[in-house]
Amino acid sequence: MSGRRVRRDEQVVGRRALLVGSVGLTAAVATLAVTDALPSVDDVPFVPDRTELDWLAARLRQVDGLGVAEVEGWQDAGRRWRDFAPVGVLVHHTGFRATAGDPHPALRTVVDGRSDLPGPLCHLLVDRAGTCHVVSAGRANHAGEAVASGPVPGGDGNVHYVGIEIDYAPQSPYGQAPTPEQRRAAVLAAAAVVDRLGTDADHVRYHAETSTSGKWDPGNFLDADSFRAEVAQALGA
Ligand SMILES: [Zn+2]
Repeated sequence: MSGRRVRRDEQVVGRRALLVGSVGLTAAVATLAVTDALPSVDDVPFVPDRTELDWLAARLRQVDGLGVAEVEGWQDAGRRWRDFAPVGVLVHHTGFRATAGDPHPALRTVVDGRSDLPGPLCHLLVDRAGTCHVVSAGRANHAGEAVASGPVPGGDGNVHYVGIEIDYAPQSPYGQAPTPEQRRAAVLAAAAVVDRLGTDADHVRYHAETSTSGKWDPGNFLDADSFRAEVAQALGA
């Protein structure tokens, strides 16, 4: 597949830069390493043959009643970053105020990234109508450094987790709650992912449970144990 070919080429470029000492290439590789290190614990770029979520859209489409939209290019997103070996799902909120007329205001941001953090910023974004937008098959910058949570080890959260962003604004002054469709879609998507990863509902964690910087994602609409209970129910159905 072209994806593997690209990664192998990148690895060759990285080695050549070190060997030849080409200033331009070395600078490019160094910049990449620095930006990736922002939310990460350690950083060695261009690890080949790692896990990719190429199955993500197809797996979600198997879920009854779940709307799925694929962001153009999602299959190649996030492939440049280093290790990715997810065993769980981390749930977030975007902090963007979504409405019926503008159901996914954060979508471009999670695809493209921010000035301080390169995209992709999640793997799935669940919009106000409950549609699941597939953003990235490769590693995404959503978790940062993580403390161990349930059965998922601590360390670099971007290695261990598939990131689901619920696009809504629970914070003041908005005080939104997810719509019922949005909440249900987040549960179903989390269940589908851990099912495909071969793990279980205990591997679905809230960012609030892993954050080392006081994150409260995905807001207070439902406590994490209750969310996991709904995931377990979805898996048992
Ligand atoms: Zn978060």
